[in-house]
Amino acid sequence: MIGTGQRGRNMAIGTKLVAGNWKMNGLRQDGATLAHELKERAGAAGGALGCDLLVCPPATLISEVGGILAGSAIALGGQDCHAAPKGAYTGDISAEMLADLGCNYVILGHSERRQGHGETDAVLRGKIAAAWRAGLTAILCVGETQRQRQAGEAIEVVSSQLAGAIPDAGAAATLVVAYEPVWAIGTGLTATAEDISAMHAEIRRRIPAGTRILYGGSVNPKNSDTILGLSEVDGALVGGASLNADDFWTIAQSCPAA
Ligand code: PEP
Repeated sequence: MIGTGQRGRNMAIGTKLVAGNWKMNGLRQDGATLAHELKERAGAAGGALGCDLLVCPPATLISEVGGILAGSAIALGGQDCHAAPKGAYTGDISAEMLADLGCNYVILGHSERRQGHGETDAVLRGKIAAAWRAGLTAILCVGETQRQRQAGEAIEVVSSQLAGAIPDAGAAATLVVAYEPVWAIGTGLTATAEDISAMHAEIRRRIPAGTRILYGGSVNPKNSDTILGLSEVDGALVGGASLNADDFWTIAQSCPAA
């Protein structure tokens, strides 16, 4: 049974956003091919996309993909940024550098960075402020582990991530929250429609009014109608399925008209 979410304050925020997180995938030719395939589909759709579309390639591909997508309706984003504008931070990339490449968004706090790079909520607070300083919209990822959900701690964990990472000046226009249960990322498992709606409603109470809340975690062409049809869901953050133009496009087309 698909939950419908509550109406009124908890309704979805207008046009949905479908974002592709390419992670550390693709050499230049792969990125160019995928970007061309998406641009072609966007061009054929004209102004009738039905959702906002975003791709976040690895840093090495941003420039080339951005060049290909220029003039299309598909926006560009990074997958991380440093809190500082510049300096002695070997291997890092600043929000200003992303903006300079034509990015409008940056994903921050993905669970793979929290786990693999020790990113804390305090660190993310600085990164979100940096994104705003550079004129980017921050996509903050939050979500509980399997153990935390089983222990009944999911809401507490997500609330604490939101409170710890979102700077006081948070505003809906420059913030997107992606609810990504860690156990659903790249596993083929997805949260139930009821659990997604319930968590999004909890998140909505804790963030600036009007902020879009995406769901992420094994979204694919088979489940996207259900997930993107939920009134509580303002879009999707898509990992694996965003690497295939047909799959990503099918997911994007699951968005109901705003
Ligand atoms: C992600 O990386 O944000 C993600 C949701 O991945 P996947 O869709 O592959 O689960």
